[in-house]
Amino acid sequence: YSAKDLGSGVCVYDVSLNDHSPERLGLLGQLRRAIDTGELVLHFQPKVALPGAEVCGVEALVRWEHPQRGLVPPADFIPLAERTPLIRPLTRYVLDAALEQCARWRDAGRVLTVAVNVSARNLLDEHFVEEVQELLARRRVPASSLELEVTESAITADPDRARRILTRLADCGVTLSIDDFGAGYTSLAQLKDLPVHQLKIDRSFVARMAAEPSNALIVRSVVELGHNLGLTTVAEGVEDEATCDSLGAMGCDVAQGYYVCRPMAAEPLEAWFDATVAVRA
Ligand code: C2E
Ligand code: MG
Ligand code: MG
Ligand code: MG
Repeated sequence: YSAKDLGSGVCVYDVSLNDHSPERLGLLGQLRRAIDTGELVLHFQPKVALPGAEVCGVEALVRWEHPQRGLVPPADFIPLAERTPLIRPLTRYVLDAALEQCARWRDAGRVLTVAVNVSARNLLDEHFVEEVQELLARRRVPASSLELEVTESAITADPDRARRILTRLADCGVTLSIDDFGAGYTSLAQLKDLPVHQLKIDRSFVARMAAEPSNALIVRSVVELGHNLGLTTVAEGVEDEATCDSLGAMGCDVAQGYYVCRPMAAEPLEAWFDATVAVRA
């Protein structure tokens, strides 16, 4: 067993993250190759504007099509990659593939913003801003069509450095979101000084809004806080109609979740876009 199973609720030791375990090193080697061989694939989940649910963008979510293990979710390899320099080529791969898809949709007349998740290590990388600019130029996507989602923990790791990089990204015209907001430790003083545009309210609050009134109060307060700071608010993890309706009534700007649409590959998503537009027409 690992210490994780002892019931403390704190993960002190996890065999899969032991720096020297052969499994970890093996998986990292396979992941390094997967980036080059195209085993990493992107699924996309729509974001819709409230009320009315018009599609305004998509979030790119990476999966690993592992030859033996099947479709591996990001939770099983991103945390591992984040502890090594491998997260840099991985993020670069995801960013490029997401922009390529965004360009393809734009060419087909479907103008959407695409959001990409960024890790703490990317925000410590002095070359990251140039890399983003280079990929935007290569795929001919305007910076205003790209959103970067950053978690609170990625910011609190080194707030001054993160703020510097985020400021340069914002100056390029990229939209910046704080992901999983409310789950971390960003102080209000930090939040006020960050050049971010959007708060994504953590799904732990959103998913239990209907079941626990205190969660609904938290979501309402974050929507107000965000608006008072001039930020757009996004609710993630919207799983039912009642939650979607009450978010709209609270003035939350954007909804994302299984109730709207599950993340899927670009091709089936196009069919969903067509069906959604047809329903409204
Ligand atoms: P996230 O950025 O907060 O993404 C939202 C996650 O919630 C996704 O899980 C999505 O499939 C899931 N989700 C969406 N709607 C619902 C819902 O209604 N109910 C529930 N229960 N879940 C919902 P996924 O795709 O497994 O990704 C998990 C996390 O992995 C992401 O959380 C993000 O932190 C990370 N991740 C995914 N792709 C990338 C990537 O390309 N780079 C990096 N650095 N991290 C990534
Ligand atoms: Mg995200
Ligand atoms: Mg999130
Ligand atoms: Mg999350």
